[in-house]
Amino acid sequence: MQRTIVQIIADQLSYIGEDPTREGLLDTPNRIVKSWGELYSGYGKDPADLLTVFEVGTYNQIVLLKDIEIYSMCEHHMLPFYGVAHVAYIPGEHVIGISKLARLVDMFSRRMQIQERIGEQVTDALMQYLQPKGAACIIEACHMCMRMRGVGKQGSTMVTSSMKGEFFTNAAAKAELMQMIK
Ligand code: ZN
Repeated sequence: MQRTIVQIIADQLSYIGEDPTREGLLDTPNRIVKSWGELYSGYGKDPADLLTVFEVGTYNQIVLLKDIEIYSMCEHHMLPFYGVAHVAYIPGEHVIGISKLARLVDMFSRRMQIQERIGEQVTDALMQYLQPKGAACIIEACHMCMRMRGVGKQGSTMVTSSMKGEFFTNAAAKAELMQMIK
């Protein structure tokens, strides 16, 4: 008979030297599976459903949502990394509700991920569905797989920057964005 996911997690507890039948751990496999519903809620979601756009004509300015909390899981070690994301775009004909930028970050971060890919997926989705003149996603995160495993870089933060369109080609646009984020 195939083992259930709850039994498999109990096996993992045994593997690390625990007794999965002791009282404090009895319900832990269930709780872990339940928490996955939220931790990995980014799967099966489509940015197209999120990014309903409004037509506004052309505004030549940067729209930036700063300090979006980000929680994700490193796909190499299945340990958390977390920090903040800054998402910006320069509207073409369309804008979106600002909260959608945060939900876009959530959609891509609540999966098994690497930090670089989250930024790429956010800017790709913006470029595809919003057709802005430029899109950017800068992420600053600390990685538990570095901090907990004693790699020796305990205080370090990883910064990634995905720039598309004018943020990539136009140094002035990029400089203005960096000034806004500071
Ligand atoms: Zn890792």
